[in-house]
Amino acid sequence: MKVAVYSTKPHDEAFLSNANSNFGHQLHFFKTRLTPETMQAATGYPCVCVFVNDVLDESVLRTLKEQGTELIALRCAGFNNVDLHAAAALGIKIVRVPAYSPYSVAEHTLALILSLSRHTHKAYNRVRDGNFSLKGLLGVELHGLTVGIIGTGNIGAIVSRILAGFGCRILAYDIKPNPKCLEEGVAYVDLPDLYSESDIVTLHCPLNKETYHLIDNEAFAQMKDGVMLINTGRGAIIDTKAAIVAIKSGKLGHLGLDVYEQEGDLFFEDLSDKIIDDDVFVRLLTFPNVIVTGHQGFFTKNALQNIAETTLRNIQDYADRKPLKNQVNPDFIIAA
Ligand code: NAD
Repeated sequence: MKVAVYSTKPHDEAFLSNANSNFGHQLHFFKTRLTPETMQAATGYPCVCVFVNDVLDESVLRTLKEQGTELIALRCAGFNNVDLHAAAALGIKIVRVPAYSPYSVAEHTLALILSLSRHTHKAYNRVRDGNFSLKGLLGVELHGLTVGIIGTGNIGAIVSRILAGFGCRILAYDIKPNPKCLEEGVAYVDLPDLYSESDIVTLHCPLNKETYHLIDNEAFAQMKDGVMLINTGRGAIIDTKAAIVAIKSGKLGHLGLDVYEQEGDLFFEDLSDKIIDDDVFVRLLTFPNVIVTGHQGFFTKNALQNIAETTLRNIQDYADRKPLKNQVNPDFIIAA
């Protein structure tokens, strides 16, 4: 099938081209994001393949449809960037990669928790400067802490298992509790109880209307003083301005982010010689108890291989008119 691949980085091209030897699709790689200015390049392509920060709103989808696109293949699990109702109304099918390697994101979540709890981000620079003082590096042990996990699907369930191995008490909130987590002794509670009892809160639910700014001033007010908050889900689950207020007041003791609500203008690009215009983001970077990584949770060899294979398999199933097992549609949101 003829595929216009947007937001292509060298690693995308390498992994997709390699996996394509089993499929033989005609892949055309575009470095740019899919925007109203760049979408004309997809004219005549029945399939458009996109990533997390490509915005497929109603007007973009309408133009793609007029240009001949029938299928959107997401190279990611989240689909908050796609207007599923508009796609369904236009007859465009959407497929995604639901679980390419949940361990990649789960382990990155742990990397953020461990760095923040033991200040390894500060120690790294300090030791390289010949400063071996321990001032400010006093850590906390995870053993015995209570962790609240919001969203216990593929990723949240693994985070739960890893942290249980550290000796943490696991609380969870999910609109659909995971039977495996229940079997493993995870206690499902409502959000106010999760907020008030957790030393660490970690977010693994999708971004949708219900979870947009789920963590706002009101949520912070219910949390323990000095709580650690981790977000490897989607940026807009947290109201960033509320997080800044919570950091300044000491309510939020540690913040680890792999995602940021306005990341589309920043992440995946080298902006080291540019002035960053986003004052909220820059303010976040000034705090010593905040770590931000640029949406790299998914970025492991294992995951990229699985993403490439599943994306090309999804496209092949469409070309062969087979059932699309990884299709997302508006009913999916309701079912999820
Ligand atoms: P999943 O679909 O397996 O699990 C999501 C869970 O969230 C489900 O159990 C669902 O019932 C629950 N949920 C849905 N709405 C909820 C709500 N309102 N409140 C609480 N729970 C709710 O998804 P996953 O594979 O575990 O991924 C989770 C999220 O992680 C994705 O939606 C995506 O946004 C994000 N993600 C980030 C990266 C990264 O690189 N940082 C990579 C992959 C996925």
